[in-house]
Amino acid sequence: MEPTSVIRLVLLGPPGAGKGTQADLLSARFRVPHISTGDMLRAEIGRGSELGCEAKAFMDRGELVPDQLMLGVVRERLAKADCERGFVLDGFPRSVPQANGLDAVDFAGVGALRVLSLLVPAAELVRRLAGRRTCRACGAMFHVAFEPPTKDGVCDRCGGALYQRDDDREDIIHARLDVYRKETEPLLAFYRARGLLTEIDGTGSTAEVSARLASALEVSH
Ligand code: ADP
Ligand code: ZN
Repeated sequence: MEPTSVIRLVLLGPPGAGKGTQADLLSARFRVPHISTGDMLRAEIGRGSELGCEAKAFMDRGELVPDQLMLGVVRERLAKADCERGFVLDGFPRSVPQANGLDAVDFAGVGALRVLSLLVPAAELVRRLAGRRTCRACGAMFHVAFEPPTKDGVCDRCGGALYQRDDDREDIIHARLDVYRKETEPLLAFYRARGLLTEIDGTGSTAEVSARLASALEVSH
């Protein structure tokens, strides 16, 4: 991929599919920003902003933050100069109205969206999410069993404190998976019908999944 070309990627997949990890790698590879709506909302909560307060109630229940609110946030972010050469969207769109909203964003006709969907069986998602620990400082993710930090509770990347996200508790995980099936899964058909969708096996190691994504992006360009 030419570093000067425009690359607009959307990573789809259920909670726990590995979107954040893979989006980070793709963002470094193509040198475009990684836009995670979940991280943006958590940052707003951390700042105690009005948007953060409004979003938190939905997030804690595992529900979607209202579409209009999300569309405003994402439109504003995509209008920033660093998105000119593209972006990796992680966690957006999450519903058909959001996908329609993204369609309506004017990218000056340069380059199409590529939508990559990570497929992971439900039982594996629950295992991944329930054991997940996140760094409060840098957002890096670990797993108590599959990818434990070297030192308990401490981020290997930055030394920050690891915590369990409020919505990574088992009861909330099931609610999030239900919301995914109902609200987000219809996007697969939505993008498939437009010929934009590539489905990727999301099981196995980070490196294996990353290699699958890379080859999917290469063969079709
Ligand atoms: P995951 O993909 O693992 O569920 P995220 O960090 O992407 O985690 O999202 C966490 C929560 O933030 C979601 O459950 C939802 O409440 C909210 N959220 C994030 N992105 C969106 C979005 N595009 N639309 C609505 N809500 C969102
Ligand atoms: Zn960290």
